[in-house]
This record gives sequence, C-alpha cells and structure tokens, in this order.
Amino acid sequence: MIHQNTIAFAREMDEKDPLKSFREKFHFPNFMDMDMVYFTGNSLGLQPKSVQGYIQEELDAWSKFGVEGHFLAEKPWFAYHEFLTEKAAKIVGANPKEVVVTHSLTTNLHLLMVSFFKPEGKRTKIICEAKAFPSDQYALESQVKFHGLNIDTDLIEVAPREGEHLIREEDILNKIVETGDELAMVMIGGVNYYTGQLFDMAAITKAGHAVGAKVGFDLAHAAGNINLKLHDWGVDFAAWCGYKYLNSSPGGVSGIFVHERHGYNPDLPRFAGWWGYDKETRFQMEPGFNPMRGAEGWQLSNAPILGMSAHLASLDIFDEAGMDRIGEKRDLMTAYLEFVIEDVSKRNSDRCTFEIITPTDKTKRGAQLSILAHGQGKSLFDALTKKGVIADWREPNVIRVAPAPLYNSFEDCYNFGVCLGDSIQ
Ligand SMILES: *Cc1c(COP(=O)(O)O)cnc(C)c1O
Repeated sequence: MIHQNTIAFAREMDEKDPLKSFREKFHFPNFMDMDMVYFTGNSLGLQPKSVQGYIQEELDAWSKFGVEGHFLAEKPWFAYHEFLTEKAAKIVGANPKEVVVTHSLTTNLHLLMVSFFKPEGKRTKIICEAKAFPSDQYALESQVKFHGLNIDTDLIEVAPREGEHLIREEDILNKIVETGDELAMVMIGGVNYYTGQLFDMAAITKAGHAVGAKVGFDLAHAAGNINLKLHDWGVDFAAWCGYKYLNSSPGGVSGIFVHERHGYNPDLPRFAGWWGYDKETRFQMEPGFNPMRGAEGWQLSNAPILGMSAHLASLDIFDEAGMDRIGEKRDLMTAYLEFVIEDVSKRNSDRCTFEIITPTDKTKRGAQLSILAHGQGKSLFDALTKKGVIADWREPNVIRVAPAPLYNSFEDCYNFGVCLGDSIQ
C-alpha cells in the first residue's frame, strides 16, 4: 500500500476501517482542553463507556442482596469468573478449561512458577530475556533464591548482541539447546515491553520441550494485541494483565493459562486457596485440598467482583470485534504510524533522526513502536506532552507509542506525526 502523510489519506483509511465505530465505545482523556492523542493503551487501556453499567449492576446487587448476591445476583458472584472464561480463552487461543481470570499478574506469575519451576538435580536453570519488565526480573530472581539457587548462574538472560536493540531469536533457541538438561524453565515476555519485539512463542516452546524444560510466557503486552494460539503452540503456562490492551481498569484483574495436559494433574505442587477447591464440595470445608480441574484450580481467593465486572465489559467488546479484525487493523495502523514517523524523520533530518527499534516485520511486532530519538532529549517528549500526546518516555531517549486497534484511528497517527515534527528541539 502506498501511504501518504496527509490528513486526507488518514481519514480515508478511517472511513474504510471495519472497526471504526468501536472508537465511540471508549472515553478519551480530555483533561488538556485540546484534542489529545492517546497512544498509551499498552500501559493502561482506555475506559469502555460500558464499564460503569457493569460495575453498577454489581453495586446494585450488593445493596439489594448483601451476601446472598453470591447466589441471587443476576450473575451470581459464587462463579462470577465463569462469565469471563470463554471470552478470555478466545483472546489467547485456548480451551476454556485452560484459562481463568483471577488475582493480579505478578501474583499469578509466582503461583504458576510454584507449579512449573521445579529445579531438580542439575536441572536448575531459567532462561529469560535481558531487560525483562522489572516485575518479572524481581519475580524470577526471588523464585531462584527461594529454591536456594544462585541468580548469577541459574538465571540466564539472553540479550541483544553488541550494538543491536533486538534479541535475535536464534540466540534464544541456541541458548536453550546449549543449556540442555540443565534447563528447568524458559520464561519470556511474549512481546518485550521496551522494544515491542514479538517472539516466536511456538518455536521457543518447541525448543524448550525438546530439552525437557517447561515453557511459560508473560503476555502483559501480548494479550489483546497479538493473535495468540497458546493451546496449539503447546505452551505450558502463561499469565497476562487485564489493564493494558485489554482495557480493564487500573490494576485490574489478570488471566492465566495452564495447558490442559497439566490442568488435570493434581500432583503438581501449588500454593492453594479455597477458591481453587472443587466447586461442588467447597463449602463442606473438609481438610485436604481437592483442586478444581483446569486453570480454575489455581485460584486462591473469591473473585473481586467490581474489578471482574470491569474486565467483563471489556471482554464483551473484544468478543464483538474479534481478534482477527483487531489483528488486521493493528498491522495496517502500525505500518501507517511507522510511515508517518519515518516521513517526519526525513523532513527534519538536518536536526534529528527518529530510529524505530521495533522490528519492521509485522509478524515480529504488535501495536507498539519504540522510537529512538537521536539528537533529542526529554525536552522533545515534554513538548509532545504539551501538545496533548500521551505516550511513554524511557531514559535515555526512547518514546513508546501504541496505537490500539480498538479505539485509535489513522487520524491519530497523522496527528501524532504533526505533533512530533512540531516538538523537535
Ligand atoms: C505491566 C507488566 C507487569 C505488571 O505487573 P502487575 O503485577 O500487574 O503490576 C508485569 N510484567 C510485565 C511484562 C508487564 O508488562
């Protein structure tokens, strides 16, 4: 497709967009008294207008029924998570039995690693990506220490090669082969939060399994963004948060995936709580833990209904849009934004260069571009913010932008380009 960095071209693309009406379903920040460009759906997705009604429904049930809402509410709280399961499973390409929405992301990563990181004999090592999201780094380090292992030798980070920004997939696969029977687990962010690089999860899973390791992914930046097939890829476990591309309220609930070949294994070690107990006999409150089959057996606590209802509102929107259409728009819009940024860079080449470090191959990225602003500092970003652009700044000079297919438009991409050009220092 021949792109043009013009408002007319952007509007024509919006006109042809089968998802264009979805923009109306969201509240856009308006605190600056000007048209704003929201490109931070990878940090906190926008609020669906429907959320208020979903939460109000549960507030009403609470005031009307008190504790009896667990059974008398229109969506009984006792099994509220079941209303979310199928829709969440579709988003990550799983069978419903393999998915449950529960807790928060880092908590879930720990709970899953209790089950899937089981160092034994010389098989003690973890492979992860260098510069993983800080919470994942802390989680992995503390898991290693919890087992009395050594983070210098048992936690192997695969980094970009000298002078490069992206991790070469062959380096991950080779490291897996090289570590061989010393490798207990691979745990990688499916999409790296910093560069936006999407990893080949099928290939990494296959390689990990070939040497007898377990393979899990943090999908915080992938769920609702990438077309995932966790079941078919054979991934052992995964977790994601609900509040980034999934738009489900600040600090909102998380989802987990446990492949069905593990979900029925009551012998896996796990940290248990009453909500993971077999639903039919849970209230007999017998000693001895009898887990629910499938991912539900990893739940500890009864569900936070208000946060769950916000998530349900958003999952219903995803269900209506469908991940196939979302994926098609994601690729078109990200490519257009890339073109706009490169065009702005060319026009201003006497003053600076905007280098996009995210892969150019659309099968290796989602809806995020990370821009290295050569010759510019934080003042460029501050100027962008003053013009109503909400993006993300990472020291020393990386700007992350994420055009979310559900609510961003091609016109947003064009407007971003105008603001970017006007902000060059
Ligand atoms: C956003 C994000 C988190 C955040 O974890 P919480 O437990 O939800 O605070 C963790 N890991 C990754 C990779 C993330 O992108």
